[in-house]
Amino acid sequence: MEDCVFCKIASGEISSTIVYQDENVVAFKDLEPQAPKHILFIPRRHIASMADMTDADGPLLASIFTAASKVARELGLEQGYRFLTNVGPQGGQSVSHLHFHLLGGRQMKWPPG
Ligand code: 5GP
Repeated sequence: MEDCVFCKIASGEISSTIVYQDENVVAFKDLEPQAPKHILFIPRRHIASMADMTDADGPLLASIFTAASKVARELGLEQGYRFLTNVGPQGGQSVSHLHFHLLGGRQMKWPPG
């Protein structure tokens, strides 16, 4: 999508610190980390949010979770971490390209804000 910052990161048009990529998934460091380790996982293909996913996206979702599990291991997060997606304005989503936050390296709190 033309004006999507995460599409531009996936294509390399905007630089980022990429920690994982394959044919369907890209993972990169968040620009404003909210934890010592904060990685974003996106599909290369533009999907606005989890609300726009269909049954056909099941394998893609599995790839994202598998990639996140692998990266979490590589980052040494064996004490635990949080993996989440914000959906829509009330869910706190600020970038309209489906992304999952991997947050770790500190004690997470519940409930989130
Ligand atoms: P959301 O609020 O939509 O769940 O999360 C969007 C995340 O994207 C935020 O944590 C924000 O810091 C991050 N972000 C926004 N623009 C960029 C960017 O250009 N590069 C990187 N690496 N992260 C970004």
